[in-house]
Amino acid sequence: MAVRPPMPRSCRNCWLRIFRKHRLRAVINTHWHWAQSGFNAAARKAGADVLAHEYTKLWLSTEVNSRWEGRVYKPQPAASLPNKTFYSGPQSLPFGGGAVEYVHLGQAHTDGDVYVRFPEENIIVAADIVSPTKYPIVDSASNGWLGGMQGALRTIAARCDANTKVIPAVGAPVGVDAVKSQQDMCYSVVSRIGENYYKGGTFDELLASKPTKEFDSRYGDPALFLKQSYETAWYHVNEIRRVAR
Ligand SMILES: [Zn+2]
Repeated sequence: MAVRPPMPRSCRNCWLRIFRKHRLRAVINTHWHWAQSGFNAAARKAGADVLAHEYTKLWLSTEVNSRWEGRVYKPQPAASLPNKTFYSGPQSLPFGGGAVEYVHLGQAHTDGDVYVRFPEENIIVAADIVSPTKYPIVDSASNGWLGGMQGALRTIAARCDANTKVIPAVGAPVGVDAVKSQQDMCYSVVSRIGENYYKGGTFDELLASKPTKEFDSRYGDPALFLKQSYETAWYHVNEIRRVAR
């Protein structure tokens, strides 16, 4: 059985206080990565449903060899898996007299990403799709794809108004401008990867062209981002020059 990193004591105490006051009814996994799914067993033990896209359950159910991390993720026990999954179409969950919306975003950070939208609060939980200050991870171990991430960011931006708070997996909430900026970056880079493919260019030639040069001051070192984006884009070579902005 895989050993999960321990939850910090402060978080544990915080959750225990919440559990004493309220019944936990549902947890939504935005994707399979353990930072997003590591609470599943405790939630299910507390009687809550764990909701996710079917692919998230499949990744958690199987061994995942994440070569870019040099790590193998063991299959999770049944008690840690989502117990309510979906394949397609907008999903909703009753919440505070209204409803929470959660929607599959296709292949983006992984192939099971969902965003979770709280319409009354004007909040969208975007998890690892949105990465405001570092290049995002295009997870080559679980079918991420940069063109899909660009589309996912467009979808999220379309759900935002000027006051929407978008919650990334890491860091403070951001507004729609940060989502659109990242979408522009993803579109530019996936387009340049496509041009390089169709010229018959190598990965080294792509790097030499500095395809992220105007974005590095904001997002930092592009090495991992470019490697993953390039490798995963091969599976989309037929569509890479038709990515809609
Ligand atoms: Zn992730």
